[in-house]
Amino acid sequence: MSPVRWMFWGRAPGIIDAMPLTRRTLLLGTAAAGMAGFVTRAGAQETFEPVVSRGSTKVVVLGSLGGQNITKLAGADACCSTSVLIDVDGEVTIVDCGIGALHRLVEAGYDADRVRNVLITHYHIDHTADLGNIAGFAWASGHNLSDAGRRLDIYGPRGTRAYERGYKRAAALSLEDSQAVWGIKPAFDRFARWHELQPPRRARKVFSDSRLHVSCARVNHGSIPALGFRIRTRDLDIVISGDRGPRGDAFVAFARGADVLLHEIILPDLVRPVLEANHAPPGLLRHLTSDHCDPKTVGDVATAAGVKTLVLYHLIPASPLITDDTWISLVQPHFAGRIVVGRDLRVV
Ligand SMILES: [Zn+2]
Ligand SMILES: [Zn+2]
Repeated sequence: MSPVRWMFWGRAPGIIDAMPLTRRTLLLGTAAAGMAGFVTRAGAQETFEPVVSRGSTKVVVLGSLGGQNITKLAGADACCSTSVLIDVDGEVTIVDCGIGALHRLVEAGYDADRVRNVLITHYHIDHTADLGNIAGFAWASGHNLSDAGRRLDIYGPRGTRAYERGYKRAAALSLEDSQAVWGIKPAFDRFARWHELQPPRRARKVFSDSRLHVSCARVNHGSIPALGFRIRTRDLDIVISGDRGPRGDAFVAFARGADVLLHEIILPDLVRPVLEANHAPPGLLRHLTSDHCDPKTVGDVATAAGVKTLVLYHLIPASPLITDDTWISLVQPHFAGRIVVGRDLRVV
């Protein structure tokens, strides 16, 4: 294993030298995070005070890891890939289902069959690896497996129909057994309803019911169709960026005036030298640095949109050595509102 990989993904102190920050800043930040006890695992104490959730609306970051790199070096600190849960009166909507999302859902205290809606921002696997798992287990884990009225709605851009076809083909033997032999109701096809959306330039309604009003807008994420979502409940107006680059969309207008903006973030100055040292193809380097947003851009977007609170999520890299204080200190010069770091299982 090259020392550079250790620096990026591992826990070796060398990461400190790889960052465009002073050694002192990072060490201080690490100590502060240790005191805060900031990550909940099953049974662990979460001392973080929620600042976004209110009334009957709870927002839980199930997975905070951005990108498609999971290695053994993260060990017990491995994060779930991107996934955010919004609970309104106990009914659950999940935005993106990165790898580990289903386990995190249960660790957060929810049964799989509580999920009513899934919103997918785009079909990179750090956002969709657990989509089939959530659909399949939400169906098979029902409290009343004879209730033919159960339903899950899945919304996403191009890729949704292909994913539906692919999942049903891959899981065909199991699905068939469950419905034809065991008698689970309704049939999977009547339970999981897949909706493929055309990414609109400006905000367009996706659906609304008594709890939620959901709209979407196209975001620019390189060559792949991608959406941001805006979710209004009676308590909160939430915008989620999904993955997006710094320009080429109308995202600021889409996010304007929201109570809270969850925005992806990358530290290009840290990522670039590590990828170069690992002989990453130039296309990957270009994608990571051009189709994601650095701390200044994220702060500028939150300021221009006039949001009250900014939640940083889809962290690249999600190294445990990069503390909340460090992430916040990088964005704070560009946004005067409240900044929160979205960690796995944190109720924000
Ligand atoms: Zn991503
Ligand atoms: Zn992506």
